[in-house]
Amino acid sequence: MTKEEKVFKILQQYAKQSLVDFAWARDSDLGIYLVNSESCSSIYLGELLKNDLKQASKVLSHELGHHYLHRNKIDMKKYSRESEQRDENYSKLIETEADAFGAGLRAAIRLEWCYLQ
Ligand SMILES: [Zn+2]
Repeated sequence: MTKEEKVFKILQQYAKQSLVDFAWARDSDLGIYLVNSESCSSIYLGELLKNDLKQASKVLSHELGHHYLHRNKIDMKKYSRESEQRDENYSKLIETEADAFGAGLRAAIRLEWCYLQ
């Protein structure tokens, strides 16, 4: 197994352990994090990311960041693209936090995989 495959697999395990449903979505290279009305969390990754596991790990760790940092804490009036009160700075901050969380998580996984095996 390559390092990128391993990092992605560990991220998928984190999702599972955190009770976040994971599924591939067709015809996309994007990710999305959703919480349904029963408070169940899901992450969908575009299946085009299967061709680039490094990018897939980047997107999955970002979506996990939304789960760990933002679950039930986002003001959808300010965040949703459909909202008339959308606040670009607020949305940017949310995305930056998820990016930073994802980068830290991937770095920690790589460190463990490279040095602690
Ligand atoms: Zn995001």
